[in-house]
This record gives sequence, C-alpha cells and structure tokens, in this order.
Amino acid sequence: MQRDCNEVWQNCLDFIRDILPDKHIFETWFLPLKPLALQDDTLTLKVPSMFFLEWLEANYIGELRAAIKKELGEGGRLIYSTAIDSSTVGQDVTLPSKDRLATQNTPTAIPMNMDTNVKDFPNPFVIPGLKKVKVNSQLDENYSFDNFVEGACNRLARSAGYAVAQNPGKTAFNPLFIYGNVGLGKTHLVHAIGLETKQRYPDKTVLYISAEQFFQQYLDSVKNKTTNDFLQFYQMMIDVLIIDDIQFFANKQKTQDVFFQIFNGLHSAGKQLIITSDKSPAELSGLEQRVISRLKWGLSADLTIPDAPTRVEIIKRKLQKDGINNMPEDVIEYLAYNISTSVRELEGVLISLLFQSSINKSDITIELAKELIDKFVKSTAREMSIEYIQKVVCDYFSIPVSVMLSKTRKGNVVAARHISMFLSRKHTNNSLAVIGSKCGNKDHATVLHACKSVQNSYETDRRFRSDLDEIERLINE
Ligand code: ADP
Ligand code: MG
Repeated sequence: MQRDCNEVWQNCLDFIRDILPDKHIFETWFLPLKPLALQDDTLTLKVPSMFFLEWLEANYIGELRAAIKKELGEGGRLIYSTAIDSSTVGQDVTLPSKDRLATQNTPTAIPMNMDTNVKDFPNPFVIPGLKKVKVNSQLDENYSFDNFVEGACNRLARSAGYAVAQNPGKTAFNPLFIYGNVGLGKTHLVHAIGLETKQRYPDKTVLYISAEQFFQQYLDSVKNKTTNDFLQFYQMMIDVLIIDDIQFFANKQKTQDVFFQIFNGLHSAGKQLIITSDKSPAELSGLEQRVISRLKWGLSADLTIPDAPTRVEIIKRKLQKDGINNMPEDVIEYLAYNISTSVRELEGVLISLLFQSSINKSDITIELAKELIDKFVKSTAREMSIEYIQKVVCDYFSIPVSVMLSKTRKGNVVAARHISMFLSRKHTNNSLAVIGSKCGNKDHATVLHACKSVQNSYETDRRFRSDLDEIERLINE
C-alpha cells in the first residue's frame, strides 16, 4: 500500500527534530520544506530556493539521509524540487539593479518619553520629523549582493548572510559574526545583507554603523548627558543592527559596557545583530570575556582571499558594472593572478590602470599592468603562487587549468601537472601536501614522484629541457 507523503515527511521531521542540537536549526532549515509526492520509495520535497537546497546539502544531508532511510528503508530516495522564486535573487547576476529606495528606513514611532523633545533628538542618524522619526540606515547601494562575487572564500558568510536577510532575528545566526583581514569584503557583505533585508522587509529599521562612529556617539552622549537616549535609541528603534570593525572597541571599557547592554536588549527582543571584525572571536584581544562570549552565540564565518578564478570574476563584474568592455582578457588574468593580497588592492590597481590608460590615451596592456603592480602592490603580493604557476604552465601547453586539475592522463596534461608541481616546489614555500591538494587533489608522495620525474626528464630529454626553461623564464618575467 502506498503511504501518504505528508505522513512520511512528518515522521522524518519528528526524527530530525530529535537528533538536531538546536530547535532554531530545525525551524530554519526543515520546517520550510514541503512534501510534494511519494512514488515507490522516492519522496519529493519542495525546497524554497537553490540557495536553501545547497545549504541543506552542505550541512544537513546526514540527518536527511538518516531520516529517509529510517522511513523508507535502504532503497529510500529523495528528490528536491525548487521553484524559481525571489529568494534566488541574490545569486543571479543578470537581474536588474535593486530598487533605489532600498536603503531608506520607513519612519518609526519614537518611544514615548522622547516625544516631547524631537527637535533635540540626540542621535545623529535620526532625521527629526513631526510625529515619527526616520533612522538613516547608512547603507550603500553599491555594496549589493549582485555586486558581490561568490567563491569558496566567502560561501559560508555569504549564505548565512543571505539567510539572515530572509529572516532577520529568526535564524540560528544571531549574532552573525563575520571576520577576515582588511580588504576582503566584510564591509561590502554586511551592506549587502542590510540592503537585502530592506528589500524583503521595507518596514524593518536597519542601521549600519562603524564601531568608531558608535564609540563617538557614545562619547557625545556622555558629554551631553544623554546616554539614556542613546541606549533607548538602539534598543527600541533598531530591528537589524550592523556594527562594522568591532575590534575598535578593544580596551574601551565603557563602550563595551553599553554595547553589551544593547546587545542583550536587542537579542532578547529577537532583533538581528550583524558584527564584523578583523579577527576571529578567539583572537580578539582587549575585549571583555562576557562580550566575546556573546559574539560566539550565533555563527562566526570568515572571509579569506578569493582564489585566482574568483579574482578574475570580481574584476569582470566590476568592469561590467562600470560599463567598461575594452579590457583585454590577458590583462584581466594577469592582474588576478598577480595580486593575491586583498580585493581592495586588486581594485586599486584596476582603477589606476584605467586611469593611466585614459590620461595617456594608451592601450591597456600587460606591460602597463605590470608597471602599476610593481609601483603599488606590496612586494609580498608578487610572491609566486601555485595558481600563477599553473596558469603559466597551462597557457604554455594550451590546455585549460581545469583540465590540468582533472584526472585526465592524456598527452601534455600529465606533463603540465608534473611541471606545475615541480615549479611550485621550487618557487613557493608550500609543503608537498598543499601543492598536491592544489594540483588536482594528489597526496604528497605523488608530488614527490612528479618532482623526481621532472628532474629526470630534464636531464635526459632535450626537448623537455627547453620547454621547462622557457616556462621558467615566463613565470619569472
Ligand atoms: P573589508 O571591509 O573586509 O576591509 P571591503 O568590504 O571594504 O573590505 O572590500 C574592499 C573592496 O573589495 C570593496 O570595494 C568591495 O566591493 C570589494 N570586494 C571584496 N570582496 C568582493 C567580492 N566577493 N565581490 C566583489 N567585490 C568585492
Ligand atoms: Mg571594512
């Protein structure tokens, strides 16, 4: 007898609820799934979006599998169905730009005891009105999800941020804590989350503020004896509070106290907090333990330097946004493969390059790019990377890097793979294990073997020797 899909799914849910550590996770990621059909041993579930599906697969596939197996036996299968709906917007690059009103907060009723004194409202972000006040969100529309390129470097932070924007205060990610070195996109990402929230929930009051501004406001409130208003403003008017660069609070005891108070007030009222820092919670020094422990309540996600193909994509997205379409492909790749310090530095060189070529009315060439990189980018940035070596080697053999990284053992591909490993060993400080993992997931013994075999061919094969000499010349160019 065929069972009903609702009943089967309900049993799965009961099972999953029991094994998950946290009811927020269950509510966020499992309740929105809807059973559509059950045919033989295959259950079809409707998933709200592609993002949702990826997240489920990445994080909860074990739980799902266990539940299906328990309900439908070994042969049990799961099929997802996703509707293309607005929740995929953040991942689609070709959509028209966002509603330009997205940064504006709607007026919020002011707390009663402030009503009498609207004109002197102490907060600089409040624009006084008659009955209602408007909180200036300070969000920058240029920093949208559309303009934020996704890569392995930011996937968790981006996905969590996107989830938060769909359901501020209602996911397990509260606070959402995003950390990483300078110039890797923290500020951009939190603006994107704020903008997306405003897009979804125009009535929610979002505020982006740097930790430094927050500190300054607090000092002013002490000076003007309006600290109560300050506290009340944050605790009563804000639905989504974004504080950027919280490491700035280090050793500022009083500021940490008020932040702690505001954090608790907002968190217990189910309001969303999004915080960035240049260090992980564990490495943040000069912050009180109780503050650090709060920061760890939700999700901490880091941003790392994008890999070279993602850097190519970032440059292309930026050029496209600025309407520039005459940048040669090889120059784009040259920049992406040679600047591996931060996205900010990458953008800096890109802008100077465009500027230089326009004032000199000259072409944008690799030579010009090289000149500017030498001039602007710290010398460490030009350190040879495995990715750069791979790129030069693959170009030399005219094969795509992706093929070199695949399992193919055809003709030049093996030679290219071996030479990449050999040169990475020679010109970078990476261990054999790291080189192996970046050259198609090989172990260190394979890398060692490759290096020996290259050495061998170099000594015995004249044709091979001239190839290798030429490639070395190219990577050192
Ligand atoms: P941080 O706050 O971490 O120092 P920013 O958010 O200011 O870094 O980013 C520096 C620059 O790099 C910004 O112009 C930002 O738009 C750009 N950027 C960083 N990451 C990305 C990305 N993934 N996609 C597109 N642009 C990015
Ligand atoms: Mg920043």
